[in-house]
Amino acid sequence: MDLEHRGLLQSDELYKYILETNVYPREPEPLKEIRALTGSHQLFFMGTSPDAGQMIEMLLKLTGAKKTLEIGVYTGYSLLLTALAIPEDGKIVAIDVNREFYEIGKPVIRKAQVEHKIDFIESEAIPALDKLLEDPNNEGSFDYVFVDADKINYLNYHEKVMKLVKVNGIIVYDNTLWYGSVVKSDDSVPETLKEGRISVLKFNKSLASDSRVKISMAPLGDGLTICMRVC
Ligand code: SAM
Ligand code: CA
Repeated sequence: MDLEHRGLLQSDELYKYILETNVYPREPEPLKEIRALTGSHQLFFMGTSPDAGQMIEMLLKLTGAKKTLEIGVYTGYSLLLTALAIPEDGKIVAIDVNREFYEIGKPVIRKAQVEHKIDFIESEAIPALDKLLEDPNNEGSFDYVFVDADKINYLNYHEKVMKLVKVNGIIVYDNTLWYGSVVKSDDSVPETLKEGRISVLKFNKSLASDSRVKISMAPLGDGLTICMRVC
């Protein structure tokens, strides 16, 4: 399995065509910059793919999202694209256990003049979400949430995030096709993907039967599940 090719399209040429025709020409300069900066990092493959990013930007604009939350920042591609898409008085609570990754992308975020929209919390996500939930003003108040941290906790994140997002608000879960491993047998996937595969399979099944949300699995990047809280 080629970890460097994050798209799930079977044809590399088709993916290249989409990127070159639709995505790269429309990708804002600061996002190109943060992507280039991340390209030389050893964990570069963790960055959100720009085609998935384009869909996220569309969702943010369509919903007019203002109060947002991100779990899993890394060097900040999805964070920066959110910061660029929301209005001047919009906010992003951004949680990551590793501040060093965030510091890599911060100069680009600063240069793009959107740093004031970001409240970065260096923490494990579960306690940070619990802390947010202690404030009754946060309950049902977020317009948009992006979940892109450890897949093992997606189900735990879902329960907490469902309390934070407003009715009609959007939650986007990334990597829900887990490098295509969801349709492979356990013994045919690399050791490094096994644990995530089990978690993602469980998560996808649970979400499909969750009547509190509408869902759409978009096969962009490594699989993007778009949820809308309906009750
Ligand atoms: N959204 C990012 C982007 O567009 O570049 C990519 C996020 S990367 C796939 C996952 C991030 O989640 C890493 O930066 C990692 O430090 C963070 N992470 C992993 N486990 C975590 C946890 N339990 N709590 C908080 N952050 C976590
Ligand atoms: Ca991801």
